Amino acid sequence: MPFQVHNTLTKSKEPFRTLQPGVVRMYNCGPTVYGRAHIGNFRAYLFADTLRRWLECSGYEVRQVMNITDVGHLLDDAEEGEDKIEAQARREKLDPWAISRRHTEQFFADLKDLGCEPAMVYPKASEHIAEMLEMIDGLVAKGYAYQVGEDVYYEVAKFPRYGKLSGNTVEELDAGSRIDVREEKRHPADFALWKSDAHHVMKWKSRYGPDGFPGWHIECSAMSRKHLGDRIDIHTGGEDNIFPHHECEIAQTESFTGQPFATYWMHSKFLKVDDGKMSKSLGNTYTLDDVAAKGFNARQLRFALIRGHSRAPLNFTWDAMQDAASSLANLDDLVSRLRRVAHGEGAAADPNAGSDFVDAARAEFEEHMNDDLNVAPALAPLSALRAHALGGEFGVDGAARALEFLARANTVLGCIRIDEELLDSKIDALIQERQAARKSKDFVRADEIRKLLDAQGIVLEDGPKGVVWRRK
Ligand code: AMP
Ligand code: ZN
Repeated sequence: MPFQVHNTLTKSKEPFRTLQPGVVRMYNCGPTVYGRAHIGNFRAYLFADTLRRWLECSGYEVRQVMNITDVGHLLDDAEEGEDKIEAQARREKLDPWAISRRHTEQFFADLKDLGCEPAMVYPKASEHIAEMLEMIDGLVAKGYAYQVGEDVYYEVAKFPRYGKLSGNTVEELDAGSRIDVREEKRHPADFALWKSDAHHVMKWKSRYGPDGFPGWHIECSAMSRKHLGDRIDIHTGGEDNIFPHHECEIAQTESFTGQPFATYWMHSKFLKVDDGKMSKSLGNTYTLDDVAAKGFNARQLRFALIRGHSRAPLNFTWDAMQDAASSLANLDDLVSRLRRVAHGEGAAADPNAGSDFVDAARAEFEEHMNDDLNVAPALAPLSALRAHALGGEFGVDGAARALEFLARANTVLGCIRIDEELLDSKIDALIQERQAARKSKDFVRADEIRKLLDAQGIVLEDGPKGVVWRRK
């Protein structure tokens, strides 16, 4: 089965076809950098990473763009209210630029820890003001947007397809909706493309006035267009982005370019914690540090967050985290076992024994991944391989083939410990170096090596044949 994706726009699963053969243009709505990203945010970014990895594994070149929103995202996503970053700056008595710089760096460090492949570019909203104004001016010129004082609004009534993504209709979006009504708007659902506020710290001069800043929605339209062109294949985000953010992006881009924007809109469901909402007041907006404080690493968290379907509800609990860590340890163990078998240890007499399990596992894995990235059942054949390995059913060549398959599956999963062989030889070399250091009474170095190994989960034990090691 070729790759199928669920498209929020058509509310159905569709065969995946790119605009340009072999190339995927993908835009992921990224973070607003006013605070440390939490595990809920990472569910959305890890979904984007898994999708990118699967596309690459399937032979596509993926041009991935993830934006950094460092201005213009107002509190509660509403049309009114303070800029999230400026509000945080006020609370911390800091410059807003310092806030966004710090959280952008932290975000990149977290993505790296989680094993996310770097996007082609991470454009910052504040560095694309000219591109946003080009679109805003164009929308005004074409009659899709209107100026009121120094603000510019998009007129939703001018775009008949408004509401196609979210199912909202312009008529329903009246004064009762969560969008605040401003007197000067022609319709309550009209949204700001450009706003003016003399008190805003991050502001730019434009033909509309001296103190302007962009609306959050136009940022993504402009950055996507700048880095990927007028049309893209995939646009992703969390389910809360469907409305108003993505609905507004479609209206702006399509009325500006006169072409369809993204072919596929893919949204991951919110992460729940203990069956409820994540919120600062409940203290459950866990960061990577909170996860580490409970004894889990980013690799284990990655597995916990990607192993369900992105559109299925996912409930995070510490028990579920433990369960994910144990399942991942089993996959690590499978790799270790297969390595030993591939070296002849406990191998079945027929060198090819197990090869047919590998072929079946590969086919099953690919079938489920091609079914809208259905990760959960795609993992089942990996567990089945472990059962065969525990049963001593692999021959030397069969084990080598299984390892090859696992390495390929891990280019998508990105969390199984595959490079153990390399690690093993490194560990042996370090142990020898430690022995030599002890002999020459260089206890500082010996201790340093012990700590280094300990940090990697390696326990040293003195046995009758010298020092032996095992994994914790
Ligand atoms: P924000 O920084 O608040 O704009 O959110 C960044 C991304 O994280 C968006 O794509 C959101 O949809 C997503 N997101 C926020 N909270 C959650 C959650 N609890 N579960 C899953 N995704 C979330
Ligand atoms: Zn966006």
